[in-house]
Amino acid sequence: MAAAGNVSTLTQKLKTANLGFPRMGRERELKFALEGYWTGKLTEQELLDNASALRKEHWRLQQAAGIDFIPSNDFSLYDQVLDTLVLVGATPERFGTGPVTLERYFAMARNSREQTAMEMTKWFDTNYHYLVPEWTEGISFKVDTAKLLGEIREAWAFGIEARPVLIGPLTLLLLGKGVDGFNSFELLPKLTAAYRQILEALAAEGVTWVQIDEPMLATDLDEGSKEAYRQVYAELKTLPVKLMLTTYFDTIGDNLETAIALETTGLHIDIVRAPGQLQATLKALRPEQILSMGCVEGRNLWLTDFSAITPLLNDAVEELGVDRVLVAPSCSLLHVPHDLRGENKLSPGIRSWLRFAEEKLAEIVALAHHDEAAWQANAAAVADREAAETTKNPRVRDTLATLEGWDFQRKSPYSQRAPIQRKELGLPLLPTTTIGSFPQTAEVRKHRAAFRHGHETVEQYEAFLKEAIAHCIREQERIGLDVLVHGEFERNDMVEYFAEFLDGFAFTENGWVQSYGSRCVKPPVIYGDVSRPAPMTLKWSSYARSLTSHPLKGMLTGPITVLQWSFVRNDIPRQQTAWQIALALRDEVQDLEAAGIRVIQVDEPALREGLPLRVADRAAYLDWAVKAFKLATSSVEDGTQIHTHMCYCEFEEVLPSIAALDADVISMESARSRMELLEAFRAHGYPNEIGPGVYDIHSPRVPSTEEMRDLLGLALDVLKPEQIWVNPDCGLKTRGWPETVAALENMCVAAKEMRTSLQIESGVQSRA
Ligand code: GLN
Ligand code: ZN
Repeated sequence: MAAAGNVSTLTQKLKTANLGFPRMGRERELKFALEGYWTGKLTEQELLDNASALRKEHWRLQQAAGIDFIPSNDFSLYDQVLDTLVLVGATPERFGTGPVTLERYFAMARNSREQTAMEMTKWFDTNYHYLVPEWTEGISFKVDTAKLLGEIREAWAFGIEARPVLIGPLTLLLLGKGVDGFNSFELLPKLTAAYRQILEALAAEGVTWVQIDEPMLATDLDEGSKEAYRQVYAELKTLPVKLMLTTYFDTIGDNLETAIALETTGLHIDIVRAPGQLQATLKALRPEQILSMGCVEGRNLWLTDFSAITPLLNDAVEELGVDRVLVAPSCSLLHVPHDLRGENKLSPGIRSWLRFAEEKLAEIVALAHHDEAAWQANAAAVADREAAETTKNPRVRDTLATLEGWDFQRKSPYSQRAPIQRKELGLPLLPTTTIGSFPQTAEVRKHRAAFRHGHETVEQYEAFLKEAIAHCIREQERIGLDVLVHGEFERNDMVEYFAEFLDGFAFTENGWVQSYGSRCVKPPVIYGDVSRPAPMTLKWSSYARSLTSHPLKGMLTGPITVLQWSFVRNDIPRQQTAWQIALALRDEVQDLEAAGIRVIQVDEPALREGLPLRVADRAAYLDWAVKAFKLATSSVEDGTQIHTHMCYCEFEEVLPSIAALDADVISMESARSRMELLEAFRAHGYPNEIGPGVYDIHSPRVPSTEEMRDLLGLALDVLKPEQIWVNPDCGLKTRGWPETVAALENMCVAAKEMRTSLQIESGVQSRA
């Protein structure tokens, strides 16, 4: 199928570029160096030496792969946004002023006993977290080019003329938050001056090309932002460096005209996410402008289909000529693991379809140089993946194809279910519960590791789990909670635990990607149709249920969260994979219900994360995401109560979709914002039950009964008493037992006191 005709038009080699390389190192060396430094085992100099060695190794790899434009300043000791704030001199003053020392750098990034760090949030729609710029009027913008120039010199000494990466001024500005309502656009003149100074310094250093990342151009921008782009770049384009204006993660769409008007020497677009933007871009480019084509997926692990990309490359070459086309990854390779070399446990079939950062560099070069052998190997691997039986499960596909409306709908509406549940479950007003996990103590982790590594037998490990669950149930009964949980001691992680039970998932040994700072995650890989060969949680939930007469809540991770926190296959739509996961969860829900577990929680903390960057695409996503949840949860009887849980996000904008989940009860993080979001639930007329978290689980502090009663009071101001549940903000796995018990005891007392005062009130009313 890789039409030879497509190849032949590309007779001359194209130039290649990389946009960023993973920082951690093949063996996560950076993680261990950072953690060594933080715990005092490494000196500052040793940390810096480690970092420098990693940069050199990564440059060497890129050079050896044959990449023409190799980035510098893509490396970071913590985060590239924080680095950019240091560069432009816009770090928050509360951490100190003057040149930023390493100590201050990490103080801004990490919570300590003395100070809370800057806020962290997700980088566009990835799972990478950046530190959020804080914009205030008084920012000095004292440019500090030490890191930027230092890395250029370091690369130069290594024989590499690097193309430094900068986060562009508008993306930086738009990623931040104006403190106390400050309008950050007021900073534009000073910010522009800082970028001028930086580009002048780069020019003086002899740098010819700069990669200036403006992923904000792949989002919906208002007129004011577009105008700001024009103003700022009108100044920057006069400087003697060539700018590669770099967009990624979505289409440049209606920002194309703005982007072209900035008159940068080059423009990078993401051809993997948004191939449709190529033709319009080719037409719009100015006569001398260079197009960098993001052809190799920088965010997922799958091999590139050369035969699908080549026609696009050919079109570009035809329109622009060989000298004006670059081949690149779609975005920085920060979001993929380092290399495949250490992956010996993957099945050879699956392994041959995967490409990590190093292998992606090879793909870029092979595409650009139309290397014949690589082409044939690519065509064979693509064909092999397409034909593979292991990725297809006819039974799952049949079920998906024959779903009916009632598969997505509870038997009766909430108003009819609620009284049945109240009666059958025998719950008081303001029922108390927890979010699922109880402390994952050193002992719990020790046993799990021992079992994993074969130092403990199944019998030993399961005996330990039974013990832990029994203790957890006893404690919850003693504390006086109404709906109990088993504690989740058997789970390492809320996605991987389920993935290991499901067909269609594979696991890497070393597929780490940076989440933030030294934190890395190793997402499972969904390579084929998902199905559930056997129950996943039934055993431990049933065991816990056998120990108590209270309702026991079964705990599952929802389809969207499993999807979002995995590497997802790209050969079928995400929606289909989400629904396949939902079908597997539906089987589990049915098994739990049949075993007498009449309260089942399906966690969906990642529901909002999946939102597409472009507003126009959001409704379609929310529609299938909500349906995935309903597919997983709708088959139960009216008397079975479905809970869901969400945390760390602003829910307001997806509130109608949260309501559409039609969960009987939703618990959510709200203590830190003092129940702020409840107002939105009230305004929306949210009909079902809500457990707004009454205490923050991120610190060991034990909140007092009064504090929690206050928060419940706020909840009662906006919601009906019958709607309210009482629970913490999130799971308790990161806490210790003593503070957990103390906090939950106070919580139950608060609930009891509120109940009593409500009963007195209603008594007064009924007598009146
Ligand atoms: N049930 C999970 C727990 O309690 C929920 C975790 C989460 O919301 N991220 O740990
Ligand atoms: Zn949570």
